[in-house]
Formats: sequence, structure tokens, C-alpha cells
Amino acid sequence: MPMQFDNSFVQLPERFYVRQSPVPVSNPELIRVNHSLADLLGIDAAWLESDEGVNVIAGNKVPEGADPIATVYAGHQFGGWNPRLGDGRAILLGEVIGKDGERYDIQLKGSGLTPFSRSGDGRAPLGPVLREYLVSEAMAALGIPTSRSLAAVTSGEAVYREQKLAGGVLVRVAKSHIRIGTLQYFASVGDIEGLKLLVEHVIARHYTSESNAENPALALLRQVVHRQAALVARWQAAGFIHGVMNTDNMLLSGETIDFGPCAFMDAYDSAAVYSSIDHGGRYAYRNQPAIAHWNLACLAQTLVPLLADDEDSATAMAQDALGEFPDLFLEAYFDALRAKLGLTTAGEDDATLVQDFLDLLESNRCDFTLAFRRLGELTVGASEVEKLFDFPESFAPWLQRWRARCAQESLGDAQRHSCMISVNPAFIPRNHLVEDAIAQAYAGDFALFHRLNERLSNPFAFEPADAVLATPPRPDQVVQQTFCGT
Ligand code: AMP
Ligand code: MG
Repeated sequence: MPMQFDNSFVQLPERFYVRQSPVPVSNPELIRVNHSLADLLGIDAAWLESDEGVNVIAGNKVPEGADPIATVYAGHQFGGWNPRLGDGRAILLGEVIGKDGERYDIQLKGSGLTPFSRSGDGRAPLGPVLREYLVSEAMAALGIPTSRSLAAVTSGEAVYREQKLAGGVLVRVAKSHIRIGTLQYFASVGDIEGLKLLVEHVIARHYTSESNAENPALALLRQVVHRQAALVARWQAAGFIHGVMNTDNMLLSGETIDFGPCAFMDAYDSAAVYSSIDHGGRYAYRNQPAIAHWNLACLAQTLVPLLADDEDSATAMAQDALGEFPDLFLEAYFDALRAKLGLTTAGEDDATLVQDFLDLLESNRCDFTLAFRRLGELTVGASEVEKLFDFPESFAPWLQRWRARCAQESLGDAQRHSCMISVNPAFIPRNHLVEDAIAQAYAGDFALFHRLNERLSNPFAFEPADAVLATPPRPDQVVQQTFCGT
């Protein structure tokens, strides 16, 4: 068997999902197979690239051992409650155990109608498929927990949005696709037994250290609060804006999911919003920690019936667990920012040092990624990155404070440099390049998509030949809005 399935979600009762095969497409053609991920999953990349593999990716052939389903969930979208969402354009083929011993979902996205499609067509245009592939893999290479992209095909079929577009199918891999919204669904229909089963399932899968917890629901809540605090801290430190932090887009595993209208910032702007549908800026960069906290409050609410017999103590427990979020976030955030500044110890005034740097970036409209990268290279003098970005005069006093702060540590310049370039990437999936890659792919040319993919798989090594991929957009190249184009 080319894929060794070991399916656990289908062991849950039938009210958790609907059995549903992917709907075949007319003329699938391979775009890309992720060889290193295939290797981790124990799947032969050459087989995935074969006719049979391409048909599996496209949903035209259900591989042996798969047990395809569409799962049910609900969620708060932009703060509004939606009692029933579910996989409307995705099919979970099943799970495989990777070489790292971890269990991974293999899901097709853009694979046709399911009972949860509502008014949608179950399909994905090529653009969103490519964006998700590029950005999720870039996130993985940056070391940020995320769903992954195993492969993508064009479908040979048109998809109709504002315009007629080529369609595609993505093979998404995640440690699971169980969302806050999955628990919300069972809570909202009063299915306490379902909630309990799901809590057990998630602990067994993602939080094995809690398998003997006295209060499983509380243990789960605490762990998810921890992981989400750590995750959003990593987003902030990378300048990543998710764009649709709805509760159905937050995984209990703590991985990033749903790369719709997401983007990395170019110039630092704490209020940055790119999503064309986020009119009020609910999911702006600076709001992400507070929104994660809000989403976790929704999670806590769903778990209240399981936490304790009486509601008052259950609510108190939930509030205690939630109350940990701000400090956990700040701790993880400042750990990440200190590392970006090349500091290995915690100093009293570090928060001010960080904030003052960010304020300078903002008032000078400096490129977030290159500013940190250049900072790391200052200690070794001239660099290639200097040609792309250097600090304006107004940074001089801050740079002096930073040097003085560095001098309090035992790290030498060379060591600091190597630490800093290992956490401050030279390459991020710049929005204008992602858009270019998508536009070229629609015109039949996938070269930029492949080139970006390869470069972003090694984001910390500056490659002068690819300097154009590290360069911020010219004013006329800045992408003002990103459409989720579902
Ligand atoms: P998302 O915006 O990807 O988080 O999706 C929100 C909900 O809408 C999920 O239930 C999706 O399955 C559903 N959905 C999004 N796009 C489509 C589509 N083209 N066809 C069917 N369902 C969709
Ligand atoms: Mg979603």
C-alpha cells in the first residue's frame, strides 16, 4: 500500500462526520509534490508523482486504506455564531503515522461537494491552493507550528468566483483538523457525551502527558491555552497576519491553519489588515493575541459542562485557565523578540527596548523582516542585506542602547550574529511575490511558484542570486488587499 493509513477519527461515533468520497475532477495535472514531507510521512514521492498518485491527490481515486469523511464543526466567524459549518470543500482521507511517530491527517482541499457545502461549490481556485502551499510551507521552514502542504494539482475544471478561474486541489497535512469549532458544535447541540469523547480523543492525540489527568477537560483547556499563546507569539515575531482567526480556524493541536487572506507584513504597521473581507480590522496584526484569547474563551465556555458538577466552580476553573493566557503570551513573545535582538538573557528594560525598536520601525515605515535581519549583521559590518535595507539616522540613539544592552552579555559578536541570523529570516513569502506567482500560474507558468517554494524552504540563508525575493515591494507593487477567494 503506497499510503499506510491508520484512521482514528472514524472510530468516533458517526455523528462526528459524514462518509463522503471526493468528487473526481476532469483532467488533473500535477503542480508539485513536497518530497521532504512525503518522506516524513513514509509516502513514496515518486508514487505521488505517478498517474495513480496524481489521481489520488485530485480525489479521482480513493487510495487503499483510506476512509474518506467530511467532519462536522461550528464556529464564530468575525464574532458571529454559526451553528453548522463543517468540511464544505475538504475530505479527510485518513491518518498516517509519520517517521517521527506522530499521527498526521491527510486531507484533500477543493475536493468537491459534501453535505456541509451550504451554498459553496466544494472547490478551490488555483490561487488559494498555491497561496496555502507557499505560505504554510514557509511557516514550517520558519519553525512555526502549522498545517503542511503535501501536494497540489490543477483540476482541469473551471471554478466560478467573481470571474472564471482554473481550479486546484491541495493535499493538506496536519496533526489533526480538530478545531475549537468542533467542540463548539457538540456543546451547542447539548451533546455532552460527544464533548467527552472528543476531549479524550484530542488528549490521546495531542496531549499524551495529560492522559491520566484527573480533570481531562481542564487539562485540555490549559494545554490549548499554552499552545495558542506560544503560537500567536510566533506569528507576531514573524510579522504574520492570519486574517481569519475564526474559532473554526483555530486547531486544538496548536498548529496554524487556514491560509486564506493571510500575509506577512512588509513595512511594520501594527494596525495592518490585508483581508478584503475584514472591514472593521478585527483580525489586524496587533489584535491577534486578544482575538486568540477571545477564541479560547469560547473554547472554555464549551468545556464548562465537563469541568465540574456545579456551574460556579466550573466557571471559576475556566476563568483561571483563561487568565493564564496574557502572561503566557507575553513571556513567549518577549522570549522570541529578545532572541531576534540577539539577547540570551532577560533584562529589566527589554520590553521597552523592544517596543522602542518597533515604534521606530513603524514611524520610519521600515521593513520588519529586513530590519531584524540587518540588525543581526551590524556586528559583522557590511553585508549583502545592507544593499536592501539599512537603518536611517533616526535609529542611532536606539542602536547605541541596543549595543550597550548586548555588551552586558557574554556572547561575542560572531556568536550573536549566528544566533540572530538563525531566528531572523532573510526570506518570507512576500505578498507581492505570492500574488505574482499566482498570476503567472493562472497564465500557465509555475516557475516563480516553484522558485519561491525552494527559496522559502531555507529562509535563514541569504542567497544573493535570489535578492529580488528578499526585496520589499516598490510602492506600485504593494498588495493592498488579499482576497480569500474561497
Ligand atoms: P473558511 O473560510 O475556509 O474557514 O471556511 C468556512 C466554512 O465555509 C467552512 O465550513 C468551509 O468548508 C466552507 N466553505 C468555504 N469555501 C467553500 C466552498 N467553495 N464550497 C463549500 N464550502 C466552502
Ligand atoms: Mg476554515
